[in-house]
Amino acid sequence: MARLILPCKGSSLSKTCLLGLISNAPFQASCRVTPVGRSRDICRYKQYLTSEVTHWRRCQIPHFPLVQPRRIDRRLICSVATEPLPKEVEESKMEAPKEIFLKDYKQPDYYFDTLDLKFTLGEESTIVASKIAVYPRVEGQSSPLVLDGRDLKLLSVKINGNPLKEEDFHVDSRHLTLKSPPSSKFTLEIVTEIYPQKNTSLEGLYKSSGNFCTQCEAEGFRKITFYQDRPDIMAKYTCRIEADKSLYPVLLSNGNLIEQGDLEGGKHFTLWEDPFKKPSYLFALVAGQLESRDDTFTTCSGRKVSLRIWTPAQDLPKTEHAMYSLKAAMKWDEDVFGREYDLDLFNIVAVPDFNMGAMENKSLNIFNSKLVLASPETATDADYAAILGVIGHEYFHNWTGNRVTCRDWFQLSLKEGLTVFRDQEFSSDLGSRPVKRIADVSKLRMYQFPQDAGPMAHPVRPHSYIKMDNFYTGKFQLTVCIEEEF
Ligand SMILES: [Zn+2]
Repeated sequence: MARLILPCKGSSLSKTCLLGLISNAPFQASCRVTPVGRSRDICRYKQYLTSEVTHWRRCQIPHFPLVQPRRIDRRLICSVATEPLPKEVEESKMEAPKEIFLKDYKQPDYYFDTLDLKFTLGEESTIVASKIAVYPRVEGQSSPLVLDGRDLKLLSVKINGNPLKEEDFHVDSRHLTLKSPPSSKFTLEIVTEIYPQKNTSLEGLYKSSGNFCTQCEAEGFRKITFYQDRPDIMAKYTCRIEADKSLYPVLLSNGNLIEQGDLEGGKHFTLWEDPFKKPSYLFALVAGQLESRDDTFTTCSGRKVSLRIWTPAQDLPKTEHAMYSLKAAMKWDEDVFGREYDLDLFNIVAVPDFNMGAMENKSLNIFNSKLVLASPETATDADYAAILGVIGHEYFHNWTGNRVTCRDWFQLSLKEGLTVFRDQEFSSDLGSRPVKRIADVSKLRMYQFPQDAGPMAHPVRPHSYIKMDNFYTGKFQLTVCIEEEF
């Protein structure tokens, strides 16, 4: 995943440094006009900073009575944060998010082998039916199966085709607990109702500007259905999407498209199959009125891969550089790291309402338009360089993050640090290595050093977290710098 980092006022140093990045790249950016939306975007970025600080205050205050204010330095805050919440605080905040500790990691009692999803997208609500092949980690041992879930309405739950009785499960605002599931392999079927139109968190499945879209990293999948929403639960997914054909002519998910057709009442469907096991944070679904720029890439073993970049129709002419960047990244990963793309189709979706910058969902990368669209009339050299780097970054995750993934979120910097290193090498090889290095270090000094000098400081691998989203910072790049310097 990549955060959308927008330049602040006075960041001319970074922008100047970036100009040299593309000096050898095979394209020309003839005009440099600041986009109209820039000042509004800066305001949004400031808002983001403010909300992070507010969040930190809310979450960390319970620890501070233990500490003398003048003794709060960086190291102390990290160690204090590993202490459990006082009991009375826990009880008085039943709805408060729970702090997760690295030292508490336990292997799951149950693994999931396959997950078949069916989405019926509607204007009022969406029905999500899931069918999970479950097996216990230790055959013959039964313990409660706890599934994560947020903002879900549970319609039904079945084990091996039999509806569960009320006394066999428990639902609260964050979990569905099956009290005594079978001690050998079984099938779990869950139907939930969700409300993407009302989902303003932009996590899970949401609807914005007429399109359905998902964001599941780090913990958004639990807003789609009840699931063990953790990276060490890896399953093979199929996804069937049903929706009104005129409103949502394009229905996308991960993997290869294996079936599609029309249904009664003006609806249609697509069925997607992802042959590789993946964690839930890489699931993606997009439905809406989009058009695609199509191309192909022939891999080093001679396999032809279809490439599609999907945008609203008016944005399609601005995707030429993104397609160039994607093909360059695929070739570079083969030449430098020996990594060949592993599916027949690679989709990129660029929409203006995507909060996270860019996301490496398996074979269905989703981007904020800012990081895909460019035209010589409006884009700066820095915009071109950013698109090249971020398209490369998300593509490189296919191997560093997706096929080889994290055990838990404490390992976030492994997948991000390594992939940032790969995208830095990619941009350096295609542009100017010294200029790229100067630009990266300038960015670290501008965004990461202030954080490390303040109360938001944290280790590359934190001891605990409350909301994982707060750790998507320049810290990953810092990891790369430290490794290179020492
Ligand atoms: Zn990333």
